[in-house]
Amino acid sequence: MIKENIEKIHIEINKAALKSDKGQNVTLICVSKTKPVEMVLEAYNAGERVFGENKVQEICEKAPVMPKDAKWHMIGHLQKNKVRKAVQFSDIIHSVDSIELAECIDKEANRIEKIQDILLELNIASEESKYGLDEIGLKDILRPLSELNNIRLRGLMCVAPYTDMPEENRKYFRKMRELLEYINSTKFFDEQLNILSMGMSNDFKIAIEEGATHVRIGTSIFGERNYNI
Ligand SMILES: *Cc1c(COP(=O)(O)O)cnc(C)c1O
Repeated sequence: MIKENIEKIHIEINKAALKSDKGQNVTLICVSKTKPVEMVLEAYNAGERVFGENKVQEICEKAPVMPKDAKWHMIGHLQKNKVRKAVQFSDIIHSVDSIELAECIDKEANRIEKIQDILLELNIASEESKYGLDEIGLKDILRPLSELNNIRLRGLMCVAPYTDMPEENRKYFRKMRELLEYINSTKFFDEQLNILSMGMSNDFKIAIEEGATHVRIGTSIFGERNYNI
């Protein structure tokens, strides 16, 4: 099942990428939150290497028992008291949304002599219920962020509104791409930022058409999540 789901998704990813004028490579992040390690291993055995979790605790449980070349992306809201473990286990932290959190990550990365890749999370549709920076917050954070030596800003992430009509999210994905281009135009950072983490099970095709380089897919790979167990 999981293997077939993944095969289908790769076909759809490739189709959508052909429609994008960016010609970008797209990385599939298998969002394995709430799912047991046996299922994560199934995805691994189907060839997947990048896994996304929204709780540090779950990364800490799964990473040590999974093959060493599995990569872990922290995609959920991160509290400062979880930063140590997040930096220890995460390839990329997608959910940085304040300078205080960035400084905390920088300090921890410095302590273990790591350069931590991060993305800035944007609340792209200004939803009350969502985490993330607004546009002004984004513009304000860039200079102080550029002064931190142990984090490397790679790009932007968003969780677009939940909708049955993914086409409605196209404007948000387009805005994300414009903001990434804006950051690159500021020259605050030595390297060009090139990651756009956007698109989930219901809207990843539209996200890719608008330039997503990383899609975070859970339900379409592993099935619905049950939070009551
Ligand atoms: C759960 C989650 C996903 C995956 O969502 P699906 O709709 O199951 O594909 C993607 N991104 C984040 C931040 C999530 O928390």
